[in-house]
Amino acid sequence: MNTAEISELKSLLSSPIRIVVIGHKNPDGDAIGSTLGLSAYLEKLGHNVRVMVPNDYPKFLKWMPGNDKILRFESHSDNCGTLLKKANLVFTLDFNALHRLGPEMEAVLQKLVCPFAMIDHHQQPDTYAKFTYSDASMGSTSEMVYHFMEKMGHLNYLDADIATNLYVGIMTDSGSFRFPATTSTTHKVVADLIDHGAENSQIHRNVYDNNSENRMQLLGTALSNLKVMQEHRAAYISLNQAELDACNYKKGDTEGFVNYALSIENIVLAAIFIESEKDGIIKISLRSKGDFSVNEMARTHFDGGGHINAAGGRSTRNMEETIKYFISILPTYQNALLNA
Ligand code: 5GP
Ligand code: MN
Repeated sequence: MNTAEISELKSLLSSPIRIVVIGHKNPDGDAIGSTLGLSAYLEKLGHNVRVMVPNDYPKFLKWMPGNDKILRFESHSDNCGTLLKKANLVFTLDFNALHRLGPEMEAVLQKLVCPFAMIDHHQQPDTYAKFTYSDASMGSTSEMVYHFMEKMGHLNYLDADIATNLYVGIMTDSGSFRFPATTSTTHKVVADLIDHGAENSQIHRNVYDNNSENRMQLLGTALSNLKVMQEHRAAYISLNQAELDACNYKKGDTEGFVNYALSIENIVLAAIFIESEKDGIIKISLRSKGDFSVNEMARTHFDGGGHINAAGGRSTRNMEETIKYFISILPTYQNALLNA
């Protein structure tokens, strides 16, 4: 976002307007943190702000300040549709292509005439937004919301609620400040968030120390299904519907499981395959180390996308065929895997 765009956005925001702030489908900590953080800031500017996401999200995010104001399109589509039609400005956060909202919500967004503003850190942004703040070098959209407030000259609006939400997004998307996109600037931003009331230790507990017994049982199943292919420096985990049902699977329960596969010595590519009988697909999460791009792999083979080291996608084949397919493409990546 250049200076001209910032000043145009500033003048659009100079008097109270109706704003909808939207996060992507299957919202994660960064989607919820960035939308709640930005909306709290925009409310302080005096705007009428609504926060929307396409569908439900994990319980470990439901304590965040402003959580009760989040509207879920899947269960309130009429209300959401009306609010969207009335909006003067729509912010889309933590995604950069409208299909990431799912077909029903995307269709509503496609018909809107008001301007869009995108804040996002994924690669290859679409061009639907009049105002685009896209930076794939950023570790999280929540960090970008902080920089957006900075660009607007409004860091003085930072308060404990905004700081807490942005902290969650930065923490979750950076694997607690350890992924390569974590910079000294990220740490300076986080320090400022703590200075403004983000209670870092408590936030960590709220998000990570809330495991249900079922989730821990499911992790046991996942780890016993782990397969390691040292010859390809790759490892994968699978969970079928029966295994999920046996542990009373709830949304978010498999969050982070794929990282156990990636943490194995010498492994640079990890995958988790999770069956969803309801959607008739295998949901795939891919993670990598170094230069190996799982974004490319997800785009080319699994109808998905994401970042260099974290991406997702899906397969309409059954579990066995999906895994077979995954293994069959590994030789074509052999050089990249050995050099990552
Ligand atoms: P996860 O594996 O945690 O679902 O997603 C990892 C990353 O890949 C996230 O940044 C997410 O936004 C992105 N991602 C996941 N699924 C998809 C998908 O189907 N399409 C695209 N473009 N990105 C995805
Ligand atoms: Mn993100």
